[in-house]
Amino acid sequence: MNRYVRAALSPTKSLFETASILSPNFFWNRVNRLARSQGFDRLYFCLSFDCDTEKDADVVESVDSKLREMGLLPSYAVPAELLKQQVSTYSKLRDKGAVFLNHGYQIHTVINEQTGHYESCLSYDALTKKEVEEDVFQGHLILKDFLGETPKGFRSPHFGTFQRASELRFLHSYLKTLGYEYSSSTAPVYSSLYGPVFRKFGLWEVPVTGTASRPREIYDSWSFFCAPSRRWKDGDYYKEAERLVSVIKKYQLVGLLNCYADPSQVWNRAEFFDAMALLSKHAESINLDQSFSLLDR
Ligand SMILES: [Zn+2]
Repeated sequence: MNRYVRAALSPTKSLFETASILSPNFFWNRVNRLARSQGFDRLYFCLSFDCDTEKDADVVESVDSKLREMGLLPSYAVPAELLKQQVSTYSKLRDKGAVFLNHGYQIHTVINEQTGHYESCLSYDALTKKEVEEDVFQGHLILKDFLGETPKGFRSPHFGTFQRASELRFLHSYLKTLGYEYSSSTAPVYSSLYGPVFRKFGLWEVPVTGTASRPREIYDSWSFFCAPSRRWKDGDYYKEAERLVSVIKKYQLVGLLNCYADPSQVWNRAEFFDAMALLSKHAESINLDQSFSLLDR
C-alpha cells in the first residue's frame, strides 16, 4: 500500500510530472518509445500484493487462487514481522511457486479500530540510514530463511515517501551488498523518465504502473477503494483497465505493466478481478522476479 506519493523533487522529474498531468498521451507515448529503445518487443504484465496487515493473510489464499486460474503469477511483499506470525499461510503460496519480495522487517501499517482506515506507522523517510539498513537487513534474514535462498527483489514500505534519487541510490547500494538484483519501489513517473525497467541507481528498478487517464497516479487498490479522500468511484477501477487497453491498442504498447494491490482491499471486489482478467488478455503474464531479467541479457 502506498498512500503518500511525495511531490516532485527534481526539476526533470517535475517537468515530466507536469507534462503527464497535461497530457496522458505524452506520458504513454514516451514510456512506449523508451521501452522500444530498451529492446522490448511485446507487453508483459505483472501483479504484486503488499500484505501489510493481518487481514491480508485471511484472504490472500483465495485471491491468489482466483488470479492463478486466470493465468496470472502474483508476487508478494510481506513485512517480515507479519510473515513470521502468519508463516503457515504464506508457506502455502511459496510452495505454489509464488515470488516474495523483502518488504522490510517492521509492520508499517495499522488499521484504525475506530475509523477502519489503514494508517501508516512507519516510513523509511522518517528513519536514519542506519535504521533503514537495520529494517532491510532483519527483513532479509527472515525472508532468506523462509525461502531457503537469497531473495531477488525488494519493495520499500510506503515507497511513495522514499523517492528521492539520493534515497534510491542509498537503498540500491545497500541492497546490492545483500545480493539483491532489483527493487520495485518507485512511482509511475520514473517509467516516463527511464523506461518500464531501468538501471539508474545501482540495481534494476521496476516502477509501478499509473492509471491510464492520470498516469502519474498509481493504479492501486488504496487509491481506488480505501483512501479516505479518494476521488475514484465504484466502477472506476475497471474503467481505468478499459482505458489502459485503449492505450495498449493505440500505441501498440510494449514494455511492462506493473500493477499492485493489497489483498484485503480487493478480495471481495469483482471489478478488481475483472480488470486483472481484462489486462491479462493484452499482455504476457510474468512474476516480478522475471521483470528485470527481460533486459538483463
Ligand atoms: Zn507495505
